[in-house]
Amino acid sequence: MSVLHPPTQETAAARSGITTFGPDFPFAYDDWLHHPAGLGRLPPERLGQEVAIIGGGIAGVTAAYELMKLGCKPVLYEAGRLGGRLRSQPFEGDSGIIAELGGMRFPRSSVCFYHYLDLVGLSTRPFPNPLDPATPSTLIDLEGDQVYVEGDRDLPRALREISDAWRDALEENADFSDIQSAIRTRDVPKLKALWNRLVPLWDERTFYDFVASSRAFQKHPFRHREIFGQVGFGTGGWDSDFPNSMLEILRVALTNLDEDQRMVVGGVEQLPRRLWSHAPGGCVHWPAGTSLSTLHQGSPRPGARRIARTPEGRLAVTDRWGGTATYDAVLVTCQSWLLTTAIDTDEALLSQKMWMALDRTRYMQSSKTFVMVDRPFWRDRDPATGRYAMSMTLTDRITRGTYLFDEGEGRPASICLSYSWMGDALKVLPLPVDERVALMLRALGRVYPGLDIASHIIGDPITVSWESDPNFLGAFKGALPGHYRYNHRMYGHFMQAGMPPGERGIFLAGDGISWTPAWAEGAIQTALNAVWGIVRHLGGASAAGNAGPGDLYREIGPIGLPE
Ligand SMILES: Cc1cc2nc3c(=O)[nH]c(=O)nc-3n(C[C@H](O)[C@H](O)[C@H](O)COP(=O)(O)OP(=O)(O)OC[C@H]3O[C@@H](n4cnc5c(N)ncnc54)[C@H](O)[C@@H]3O)c2cc1C
Repeated sequence: MSVLHPPTQETAAARSGITTFGPDFPFAYDDWLHHPAGLGRLPPERLGQEVAIIGGGIAGVTAAYELMKLGCKPVLYEAGRLGGRLRSQPFEGDSGIIAELGGMRFPRSSVCFYHYLDLVGLSTRPFPNPLDPATPSTLIDLEGDQVYVEGDRDLPRALREISDAWRDALEENADFSDIQSAIRTRDVPKLKALWNRLVPLWDERTFYDFVASSRAFQKHPFRHREIFGQVGFGTGGWDSDFPNSMLEILRVALTNLDEDQRMVVGGVEQLPRRLWSHAPGGCVHWPAGTSLSTLHQGSPRPGARRIARTPEGRLAVTDRWGGTATYDAVLVTCQSWLLTTAIDTDEALLSQKMWMALDRTRYMQSSKTFVMVDRPFWRDRDPATGRYAMSMTLTDRITRGTYLFDEGEGRPASICLSYSWMGDALKVLPLPVDERVALMLRALGRVYPGLDIASHIIGDPITVSWESDPNFLGAFKGALPGHYRYNHRMYGHFMQAGMPPGERGIFLAGDGISWTPAWAEGAIQTALNAVWGIVRHLGGASAAGNAGPGDLYREIGPIGLPE
């Protein structure tokens, strides 16, 4: 059977609908993970071999977990907190209420993410997105005008027109239904033919260009584009992405990343933490009960400060306290700019073209501010209007997106007063938490005159600006027009057979390396690529009957564009 017709077409995921299968690299990660033969095997002399992993976010922890199962000894370095951008911050006290400061809504199409979620026994519930059936009500407040929608009913005409225009634009310029059908049936040749045609067409054009130049939107006034930018369809706030390369937006739409999103009960940070302490059955080499935690005496190594090549050709990692250890393979999963700032990285370890890609990678800013409240008071009806007292709110004011998290009557609840990106996040960057809360309450006071949100606040507020954290320098990648080649270089770097020896052994994974930044699924898929690359680098191979991403990369990998 040709690898272009892999036996994946019959999987449950493929039958049930759209998954994160491609479009750039339509490799069935879910089938690879579920295959009883496992992800590969190492030569006996490599068992117990140490591999350095820099960064304990979901990419680093996943790679470490899978490498441990194969008999490696991952040595994980973490500069801050395990979990990285999957950070669930508890409010002060013991209410159990948390603020999801990074990833918070996880589309069902994320096959690898849900594989690991199931593995560690975490459950999910619908995320209260705008206009979602699970959201009691949504209020859209633009230029002082308000639209109120209960559940997903009664969409006003303008919103229906915008939703239709978006669908029509996707059909008109991006073969939307055909590509989704190829994803659904895992028809690799068809998917590659359709997607590869779009890559050169849309790499250098922006999301805004796609919308504004489409016949579907040109039928409508400018106002429709403005509303679309505020409301989007799915998560809202799409105008922050208007300058991004359209390819990035197409990937989100085509793989349903913006749909059917769920939140993790108790907080998503439990996922990397549970993987850290999970003792998988059937580890090669390691005794029963071994986990990443037991291999590390409970705690990761300190942050990495230097990566260099030793005269013997090994890779030396120096931690923040000066301790140095050498390895044959190092996986870097932290934000790529850190390789030129916080970590003194031997320039010769990567080609100049790779440095260009890593340094030109563009990161978006993002800020969130949360408060805990005594009860879900938004469920009260306003006697004058009959509406809910407060709604999931999208607005052009500084708050941008306000989300309501209801834990049931009789329990405290939480509000994400503001989730914003780019310029809106920069507006609050220098402000301390109290000033941010005051600013957001003032803006919401204009949307809900007469509603005293402040009187419900209990506990301490929580805020984050990812760009001000030295271990992140931004929230997530947002590729600009013309960045396809950079992404292609970074994503394909795990294929090291043809590289000069001096550039082999250092691997890259994580959100910035992925084709679908801002989605944990993409970070995990790059970690799995790195696992394949490291096994190969150590002289190992894929398990019989279970071809890995690198085995199929040459055949079905992303299309290259001329340099
Ligand atoms: C505001 C926000 C909202 C998001 N929303 C969603 C969402 O709703 N759904 C979704 O699926 N995804 C979302 N994401 C994206 C998701 O959180 C990321 O894709 C994912 O968590 C990235 O994991 P990672 O392992 O690649 O990187 P990280 O989580 O950043 O992990 C890298 C780790 O490296 C560490 N590090 C840094 N420097 C060093 C050093 N010198 N030495 C050692 N360690 C170091 C960092 O502390 C960090 O823990 C969101 C992200 C943000 C920021």
